[in-house]
Amino acid sequence: MLVGMNILGRFAPSPTGVLHLGNLRTALASWLSARAAGGRWIVRMEDVDGPRCRRDLGEAQLRDLATLGLESDGPVLWQSDRGEAYRAALAALHQTDRLYPCLCTRKDLQSLASAPHVEDGLRPYPGRCRDRVWEGYDRALRFRLPAGTATWSDRLLGPQVDDPAALTGDPLLFRRDACFAYHLAVVVDDAAQGVTEVVRGADLRPVTATQIRLQEALVLPRPAYAHLGMVVAPDGSRLGKRAGALGLEALAARCISAAEALGWLGWSLGCLNHPEPCTAEALINRFDWAGVPKAEVRVPEAWT
Ligand code: GLU
Repeated sequence: MLVGMNILGRFAPSPTGVLHLGNLRTALASWLSARAAGGRWIVRMEDVDGPRCRRDLGEAQLRDLATLGLESDGPVLWQSDRGEAYRAALAALHQTDRLYPCLCTRKDLQSLASAPHVEDGLRPYPGRCRDRVWEGYDRALRFRLPAGTATWSDRLLGPQVDDPAALTGDPLLFRRDACFAYHLAVVVDDAAQGVTEVVRGADLRPVTATQIRLQEALVLPRPAYAHLGMVVAPDGSRLGKRAGALGLEALAARCISAAEALGWLGWSLGCLNHPEPCTAEALINRFDWAGVPKAEVRVPEAWT
């Protein structure tokens, strides 16, 4: 059982836009979970996704987090600086014959029939290139998933059993344009940074089994996981395009303060009986995973 300073939580946004209430709720929950246990918390910028990621957007996200009182204990890691570590992980996987070149084009992938039970628009890769022989590192590379289900205990959702082959299929780890993919970077960095708990949105629950398989193949420790219900628009639709309007700056322009936003977020995480302005600090000793609702939460109508 980990205690106190051995606990390390993290928030790992992609700097592709403004942090909206959904992102901020994840940030706050991960911070509260670590702080309530006497642990530390870090921010990591997941900027491996090519030109969509921008340094200035990341800096703005860090400012928004600081406005809420959420500041990284230690330097913020930018994944675009981590190529060497990802390359070493690919080499380790290649050594144990876990990688294969994938020549499928985007068009090929779109035309592949999707599995009958596809969650959240995930299309598992059906393994068309699985038997291809190694051709070097200048190809897109996929991880050959071992057969079988993965089990883990989610701190919010309880015991989970998933078959990664049915959810993601063999994940892409390296793209032809020499970008490292999310699954590789997240697994390598959580371990390199000593992260012990991963709190993130339920949209990422279906990829957890795949990441667990990758941790196993790289002989890396497995953090604890908690997947939070999504924050949705008042009509139940995903925040998507409206995201920009639900960032701190846009809310402030409509006279909704950071303290009010925090109060709403804290209430949505079961820390307060009513949404009332507060600080993040004031929520620490009210946070308890047992009190966090599993369901999705709707943004107040008046805020949209
Ligand atoms: N960077 C991912 C995102 O912004 C989150 C990754 C994670 O928490 O594992 O969606």
